[in-house]
Amino acid sequence: MPICPVCRLELDSWRDISEHIEKMANEKSDPQHVMWLSRHISNKEIKKEDLETWLFNYFEKPNELSLWIRKRFIEKFYSHKPHPFMLAMQKPTRGVLLGYVLEHRHFLQNWVKVLSLIVFNTDKDDVIKYELENISTEYLGINGKPSHYELLIRMGESLGLSREIIFSTDPLPSTKESIETWRYIALNRPWIETMAAMHSLEIAADRSNKNYGAKIHYFDIEILNSDKYNKEVKDFLKEGYEADIGHTGEALNLIEKYADTRKTIENIKVTVLKSLDALDKYLFARLERAMQFEPELIEVIKQ
Ligand SMILES: [Zn+2]
Repeated sequence: MPICPVCRLELDSWRDISEHIEKMANEKSDPQHVMWLSRHISNKEIKKEDLETWLFNYFEKPNELSLWIRKRFIEKFYSHKPHPFMLAMQKPTRGVLLGYVLEHRHFLQNWVKVLSLIVFNTDKDDVIKYELENISTEYLGINGKPSHYELLIRMGESLGLSREIIFSTDPLPSTKESIETWRYIALNRPWIETMAAMHSLEIAADRSNKNYGAKIHYFDIEILNSDKYNKEVKDFLKEGYEADIGHTGEALNLIEKYADTRKTIENIKVTVLKSLDALDKYLFARLERAMQFEPELIEVIKQ
């Protein structure tokens, strides 16, 4: 049975869900349902039958869960109108990279904290191993390689920020709010939904995105061969570029493996969408921070 993407109310059909959303938004003016409608259906009036069809297509296609997650990610961040942060990463300036460093330190710290909660809440061995490995790569470094966390800090240092400043800078409010969303999911939803919420975010840097319709990659890969960027910047970007490929697929496969009921799948989808909204906001926070170094970036944000 389908569930409402806003409040998770379970009803018999997409027709009932569309009636429920409309009622909540138009008759009861519930802010969350109103916001959901305007975000997804834009501002144009939509007929009841159309909303039902739209919901059906959006939530039921494609049928395969991992593919569904990829598709929703790519249409949100990499379609004909990519996210402004991704656009900025095609030719990142010092300010953009520093904005990335200062906000992402908080993201990465929270990342391993949330992944630890997945480990705590599951009994599946392959999931525990996967998450522990991910935590090690991100935070400790494995096989003599520095962690992603360390590579991020080194990139910041190479661009002129001291470790002291990087570690003593608080996150911007939008970063904080996004982190709160992910923590809320981790504390209140089943581990499999938390896993889907977190690892769907890694699709951002997945090299295979273009096979699924992405118009651009996370960054222009020419950067890796360019002499306009220093070694620390390339080391950080390369790590994500090389590591996240099999990685994301593996997580999505595990999620699919353990999502064994229709209800679990419906809930995973709703949670993933909430997580992607949080990512959207968080990526803007990186740009907002970048503007402290380069105020002219306002033009990128307005695009
Ligand atoms: Zn609802």
